[in-house]
Amino acid sequence: MPEYVIPAWELPSLPVQGEKKRFPVRRIWCVGRNYAAHIKEMGYDPNREEPFFFAKPADAIVHDGGVVPYPPQTKNLHYELEMVVCLGKGGKDVPVEKALDHVYGYAVGLDMTRRDQQFASRDRGRPWEMGKGFDHSAPCSAVVPAAKIGHPSRGSIKLAVNGQTKQDSDLGAMIWKVPEMISYLSALVELGAGDIIYSGTPDGVGPVVKGDKLHGAIEKVGTLDITIG
Ligand code: MN
Repeated sequence: MPEYVIPAWELPSLPVQGEKKRFPVRRIWCVGRNYAAHIKEMGYDPNREEPFFFAKPADAIVHDGGVVPYPPQTKNLHYELEMVVCLGKGGKDVPVEKALDHVYGYAVGLDMTRRDQQFASRDRGRPWEMGKGFDHSAPCSAVVPAAKIGHPSRGSIKLAVNGQTKQDSDLGAMIWKVPEMISYLSALVELGAGDIIYSGTPDGVGPVVKGDKLHGAIEKVGTLDITIG
């Protein structure tokens, strides 16, 4: 191990269902606008256009059962429930037909968004980072290995806030399917083992406030519980 001039930090990681060993998180990639009904609610044309991606820092992970402190510099914190694809193997220019071989497993994630910051950046043609990649912006459940559940391409994806259903859709409604997003992203950057991909949110996004309890569930994949602090 190298020595460092300042204290090094712990590698971000996720628990794995049924395993003592953890899944190390290298980078967090996110797909934008991947469910037609969500594209419409955001005011865009839902015709299939090329997928686009943004990133969050790996240390933005918040574990299941944890607290997302209400972030500074926003009055409009939104949830976006998403299936997370966890890569066990990297690669570049991965063909669609081989893409699922790169997946270790899946998880339930929340792409927390400072919507007012995101829109302000968008309107000025500036990057989205401060709307998307802030501290604690990436709650994520334990990883369930694909070896156990296969590769879910349909199944319900649901989010409730304080017991009230807000998002209720099906993974089958994704515009860009998991193998396509892996293949497409791997042509833009060389993917690494430990990279995780938030695969986009269905419609029904909305604001949360301090004290709200979020419960996300994706059929076969698992559940995620978060409190806004
Ligand atoms: Mn999202």
